[in-house]
Amino acid sequence: MNDNHYDVAVIGGGPAGYPAAIRAAQLGLSAVCIDDWKNEKGERLFGGTCLNVGCIPSKALLESSELFHRAETEFSVHGIKVGGLGLDVAAMQTRKAGIVQQLTTGIEALFKAAGVVGIKGRGKLLAGNRVEVKTDTGVETLSATHVVLATGSVPVELPMAKFDGKRIVDSTGALAFTSVPKRLGVIGAGVIGLELGSVWGRLGSEVVILEALDTFLYMADQQIAKEALRHLKKQGLDIRLGAKVTSATVQGDVVKVGYESGGAAQTLECDALVVAVGRRPYTTGAFAQDVPVQLDKRGFVEVDAHCRTSVPKVWAVGDVVRGPMLAHKGTEEGVMVAELIAGHVAEMNYKTIPSVIYTAPEIAWVGQTEAEVQKTGRPYKVGTFSFAVNGRAKGMQQAVGLVKLIADREHDDILGVHIVGPVAGELIAEAVLAMEFQASAEDLQRTIHAHPTLSEALHEAALAADKRAIHAINR
Ligand code: FAD
Repeated sequence: MNDNHYDVAVIGGGPAGYPAAIRAAQLGLSAVCIDDWKNEKGERLFGGTCLNVGCIPSKALLESSELFHRAETEFSVHGIKVGGLGLDVAAMQTRKAGIVQQLTTGIEALFKAAGVVGIKGRGKLLAGNRVEVKTDTGVETLSATHVVLATGSVPVELPMAKFDGKRIVDSTGALAFTSVPKRLGVIGAGVIGLELGSVWGRLGSEVVILEALDTFLYMADQQIAKEALRHLKKQGLDIRLGAKVTSATVQGDVVKVGYESGGAAQTLECDALVVAVGRRPYTTGAFAQDVPVQLDKRGFVEVDAHCRTSVPKVWAVGDVVRGPMLAHKGTEEGVMVAELIAGHVAEMNYKTIPSVIYTAPEIAWVGQTEAEVQKTGRPYKVGTFSFAVNGRAKGMQQAVGLVKLIADREHDDILGVHIVGPVAGELIAEAVLAMEFQASAEDLQRTIHAHPTLSEALHEAALAADKRAIHAINR
């Protein structure tokens, strides 16, 4: 083998690609990870969408804006007096950028420690598992026994609301505002729209979110979605369902958005418009024309349950393949593929991928919704428990929302857990673990939960499924 041959070459260094390379190296394989991300300063950084313009920067701003909002609205309830509360958006953005910088450069350190070769450049899969790599200094070709495509996704652009990078922006633009827009329009009440709407709403924007569907969070359990909608509206987010955007034009300093609602034409004026209608798989230039990697109708790389593509020894993971566009889903696929390449037995349990929306309250779930269980026709039972009577939530001044647990009525296995409430994104981990271990509701009932904790609400929801909650009236 020559110096330019690797056991595994990964194209794409986001949360699906870089863990695949690291796991392959851990298993004794030679691995290279090629990534072409460039930030607005022209710096090349690993980490993909997630670390650079996705999960991490959005959570940094969500935290800052939440603290500001709580200082403004809640500190006085705690008996804390704050004088001269003010905002420094530049400092907020600098903190965010610092976190991104630390984590993205951290990947290079991880590569070094694991023995992964990281190349900052653009990769293209050629026939015969050769990979052409274009860097800032030239072009080289390497070969690999296995190639993993992890090229991710990009925001969807609407033809009637084209990005101008200033007033009509995608999520990346909305994470980089240097001042708080007075009026912010958001198209799409999905995860990203709600999170970004929350950030700027908490900092003072009047936020209007236009959602084409009539159902709020159609993919979530509707009892949880309704509760979440109530709280988000109470916070001032003006969420308009059944609002189909027909046009968006920039006129001077204003964006005029036309939309249809209830059969009538409406308009919305705002200072900035965020288009957050989803993301599409990105495969542009990732493989040469004579490499027969099959795509499906929506442009995703077609893969089997083990992420094998139509080309032998070519795999694909993360946002570029079917399934939820979530960082942790991509990571687990990357790890699975590395283990399979190394000859191990590996499986991915797609039924226990948690979803989290980092609004306040947070929304999180795993497994089936009640409507999905109903469709299967299997007998089920439901236990719910409200945070309103949870001591820890009260102490935190965040006693809102509920936990809902759905279990099979005969066999008792847990089918789904749905939470809207404080740090639901952390609480859901226990439910994921329980489902991964195929626990029953009784297993959760018998698990001792520390007091006072938010996790007691999950315990009580499991108890409630058998009408034996202690701190609630069982019906
Ligand atoms: P990406 O992260 O998109 O990485 C792909 C990488 O491949 C990129 O660096 C790209 O430049 C590179 N690339 C593409 N083509 C080539 C090529 N030919 N050669 C070399 N490199 C190439 N998910 C969560 O789970 N939790 C969250 O809280 C969350 N929040 C989000 C918030 C926002 C605002 C956004 C936009 C997304 C969020 N996501 C979240 C989704 C998450 O970011 C994606 O699911 C995740 O990044 C997908 O990982 P990936 O590795 O498949 O692709």
